[in-house]
Amino acid sequence: MPTSSAPFSDLPSTPLSRRAALLGTVGLLALPATRAGATTSAKKSQQPQQQPQQHATVWPHPSQVPGGVARLSLGPAATRPKAFAGDVPLLVLGDAIEWTALVGIPLSATPGDASIAVRAEGRAERQIAYTVAAKQYREQRLTVAPRTVDLAPEDQARYERERDHQATVIATLTDMHPDASLQMRVPVPGRRSSSFGLRRVFNGQSRNPHSGMDIAAGTGTPVLAPLPGKVIDTGDYFFNGGTVWMDHGGGLLTMYCHLSRVDVKVGDVLKTGEPLAAVGATGRVTGPHLHWSVMLNRAMVDPALFIAA
Ligand SMILES: [Zn+2]
Repeated sequence: MPTSSAPFSDLPSTPLSRRAALLGTVGLLALPATRAGATTSAKKSQQPQQQPQQHATVWPHPSQVPGGVARLSLGPAATRPKAFAGDVPLLVLGDAIEWTALVGIPLSATPGDASIAVRAEGRAERQIAYTVAAKQYREQRLTVAPRTVDLAPEDQARYERERDHQATVIATLTDMHPDASLQMRVPVPGRRSSSFGLRRVFNGQSRNPHSGMDIAAGTGTPVLAPLPGKVIDTGDYFFNGGTVWMDHGGGLLTMYCHLSRVDVKVGDVLKTGEPLAAVGATGRVTGPHLHWSVMLNRAMVDPALFIAA
């Protein structure tokens, strides 16, 4: 199975020579050296590229696995193209020289071929293919309060209400585009676990995979906004405890859970580094820490792809 992408294998209507010339021009004119190199090799060979090292200074880092992010070049266009994964609009960043669609790949994605649809002004809709490589996430076994695994009927009803509410929060899409660099500030200092994607077993029972990053920090530690954005939800939820959701535009959302205190309200607009809450141990936890999730086009993706190592 291919382990990486062939992002330029679309455009069947464009003659190869013109396509190669176009991509070569784009690479030389517009991209940092590392990306120009990747583009050139794709032009020459039309082979899948090895991306992660070459893109180490691009955020989010490309990682075409379940829970990762695909960065797909849409080429040049005078105005921002619209791109979709199924019905879900994608974040498209860049400028007239090169637009890039960022595709959040759900943890539940099946490895193999995938595609997005692109609509640019004055052009027919086209598909861009990419490949999702398999990734085997480890298993994590946790022991928590039994009432948070075998839910009482009233807790089950509460959870279902909260799940439905969260579905509306997740669907938030504002026509505001974040800056081209989506490098995020780490929301709290502390030891960052690499627990994203772990298949979790609570008290011996399998549950959903872990869809965020846990950062060890004491109760009361301020949680800081990692990018500019707007608060779109706050609450105290059964599993997530004290929670804040932020909208960074274009379908890029972040979520903070298990908070001991929430210092913002819906509608507040924050700059990078402004405090929004305090770390705690509310909801289903084994101790105080920040649970931080990043959602792109409704898929929870690995927050590590958005921060410097
Ligand atoms: Zn967590």
